[in-house]
Amino acid sequence: MTIGDGMPRWELHISIASMAALVVLTGAAIGLVQNGLSMSELREAFPFITALSLGAIAIVLGSVLPDIDGNGRIRWTIGPVMGAFGIVPPFIGRSLEEGFTDGMMFIYHDGARLFLLFTAIGFSFLLVPFKHRGKMHSIYPAVIFGTAWGLYTWSCVSLGIEHAFLVGGLGTFGYTWHLAMDGKLTF
Ligand SMILES: [Zn+2]
Repeated sequence: MTIGDGMPRWELHISIASMAALVVLTGAAIGLVQNGLSMSELREAFPFITALSLGAIAIVLGSVLPDIDGNGRIRWTIGPVMGAFGIVPPFIGRSLEEGFTDGMMFIYHDGARLFLLFTAIGFSFLLVPFKHRGKMHSIYPAVIFGTAWGLYTWSCVSLGIEHAFLVGGLGTFGYTWHLAMDGKLTF
């Protein structure tokens, strides 16, 4: 990520605005909890909370993923990053359905294997001779990532299809956000 020519670019403003929106949403969610709502009451009162939390995770993953074509250390980091994010949707799905303890049990058993699998998939990208800020820095992989992540999340957490779209859309948004910061918002 580079910020060129002194003046902050428009992309930077959008990013800061999005960040502010996310902070406000988080604050509102925490406020609701502190008013004595339990997690299940909160989900009843605010059905979007699960999809929004999953969407926030999708934004973060999407905003680091384009640098999978980076040089050196960053490409080695992407493997475990993918591993860590890969176990989040099934963990949340399990926790919502069977309780937090079951979610933790998932992480100790199947989750650990899933972490290794996703990490291996991330590392396999080391074999692809990418050009930094090349093909992976464009809208197409952003849409593909959002779609794949939305579907993966949908298969792990019982969400309505419109909520799965929200999660996938926010993933594409995070990826696009990174492209904008790099000044690479192209097709
Ligand atoms: Zn980049």
